[in-house]
Amino acid sequence: MAKTFDVGIESLGSNGASQEAGHQVVGRPAGAGGLLPLPLRGGRDGDAAVTPAATTGKSFFLETFGCQMNDHDSEKVAGVLQGRGYHAVESPAQADLVLYNTCSIREKAAQKVFARLGDWKTLADGKIIGVLGCLAQQEGEEIFERAPWVSLVCGSASYRKLPELIAQLESGGRRVTGLDLDTDETFETELTRRDNLLRAYITIIEGCDYACSYCVVPHTRGPERSRASDAVLAEARRLADAGYTEIQLLGQTVNSYRDPSPLGWKFVDLLRAVAAVPGIRRVRFTTSHPNDFHRSIVDAIDEVPELCDHVHLPVQSGSTRVLREMLRAYTREEYLQKIEWIRAARRPISITSDIIVGFPGETEADFAETLSLLDTAKYDAIFSFKYSPRPNTSAMHMPDAIPEEEKSRRLAVLNERQRAIQIAANEKLVGQSYEVLVDGCHPARTQWGGRTSCNRLINFTSPHVNLLGEYVQVKITRAGPNSFAGEHVT
Ligand code: SF4
Repeated sequence: MAKTFDVGIESLGSNGASQEAGHQVVGRPAGAGGLLPLPLRGGRDGDAAVTPAATTGKSFFLETFGCQMNDHDSEKVAGVLQGRGYHAVESPAQADLVLYNTCSIREKAAQKVFARLGDWKTLADGKIIGVLGCLAQQEGEEIFERAPWVSLVCGSASYRKLPELIAQLESGGRRVTGLDLDTDETFETELTRRDNLLRAYITIIEGCDYACSYCVVPHTRGPERSRASDAVLAEARRLADAGYTEIQLLGQTVNSYRDPSPLGWKFVDLLRAVAAVPGIRRVRFTTSHPNDFHRSIVDAIDEVPELCDHVHLPVQSGSTRVLREMLRAYTREEYLQKIEWIRAARRPISITSDIIVGFPGETEADFAETLSLLDTAKYDAIFSFKYSPRPNTSAMHMPDAIPEEEKSRRLAVLNERQRAIQIAANEKLVGQSYEVLVDGCHPARTQWGGRTSCNRLINFTSPHVNLLGEYVQVKITRAGPNSFAGEHVT
């Protein structure tokens, strides 16, 4: 995977982490660019007008592997538990209830969770061990076969059943499962435990109605269902009241949003309405499907300063032939048309993407088309992956698998090409000033770090203290391939 936004002031080396495939433990938010996030004005514990139940003395530990959707699902699961009187603890050894919320898009995450489960083989006595998320949906009751000490298996499409499942376990149930996919409901909670102190996530759409041939999401997260716009706006207002200024709207295909209420809003209507909530200064959204990316979204970004000037638009391949095999529902030309709209905007908008190399049957010529697409699109960053076959996908049994070694070679070539593009583009930004929301600090070096509206990470020095959570102007003094160094403009 290409690393992004990873340059500190002292060194222009790499230590960044992907936006898409993080790993987080509840209570310990991930830092930015190696800097440490600090509690902000005592932190924010929940965002709803609901008081957590009195503590029962029971504790939980929840570890998350996967994307921002998974991170936010975990925040909601933690809210459900907190609402039942559980409190979070820092280590699984201290917990009565140990949960792993796992993505199964990549094999690695699944392997990690089974390794974690293995640790409990002789130690689980008295604890409730559970598996949540896409892996739970994917493996289902087979998890009980592989790890008989597990008591709870609940897929992401069945999260609405979690309170009921936990109640069954509390009253002595030995094994409970939530594996239904046939739902038209989204996972709504009365209380959400917010672990990111500065950026609040709101899921606006769950599941996916596309059927990309390499992807397990339609199988693990179920069909697409959107939340009513009034529920989304009410949550945005509560978050603003709680002091959040940055909101990220989430969905596997966030821009496929269709308001199920009589208002019938499209994604862009919701985007504008969330940006208009008093107190909100930044609105982000991820992940967009190119097929549903319309010019009206670019127009909205141009017109509404609160909408961040960053679009993540996964292309996956530069070859129309491979895109067809992937069932991506657009051609290279149609995709590049959307890039042109974005590049033609009045505000410079940064663009990032996801790319898979080594899809079955990908020829040298197909791969060359992906490389040439990099040159045309000039992405600000990419997340790159080697194709890996996943169960319950139509690509699983496609002929002409690419040897692992060749996939690695293509990945290295791709990342090298993209790195050169980023170095050249980022150099041009030296001397420019950006507004940064400060989200981390390195106490030993008295450095601060934060993100611009276009999601660039800048680490910077400042004569000021207590900048966390502030919006400050920072001038870029040095550029690396993935992030920047700068100084506070006071
Ligand atoms: S659009 Fe394709 S890649 Fe994205 S979640 Fe749906 S099926 Fe998966």
